[in-house]
Amino acid sequence: MQNVKVKISSIQPEKPCRCGNSFQHWKNFSHRFITGCPVVGCGKKDIVGMHVEKSESSDKEIYIIPLCTEHSVSKDELEILEATKFVSADLKKTCGEGFMTYIDAPVL
Ligand SMILES: [Zn+2]
Ligand SMILES: [Zn+2]
Repeated sequence: MQNVKVKISSIQPEKPCRCGNSFQHWKNFSHRFITGCPVVGCGKKDIVGMHVEKSESSDKEIYIIPLCTEHSVSKDELEILEATKFVSADLKKTCGEGFMTYIDAPVL
């Protein structure tokens, strides 16, 4: 069990995906619910979906995770609770084309 370190991606979508917004996208594809911001020690309730990259990882894919509005604009590395589901931000793999399918992000 290890927490995951992420940075907010410099590339955020210009327009919402088919889900309406990134948090809804996360909910649609994670099949999870959260009770607050997944940053260690946070837990705030004002949640938005953000595109992030894993730091300290060879995995360079962009993921969507839920974050509070405060952490969503953080320039620092964020430590995310290990149990948090990472949903691919690649819309071709998720809501962008064809039927909605469940994408399992690799667990580190
Ligand atoms: Zn979507
Ligand atoms: Zn937070």
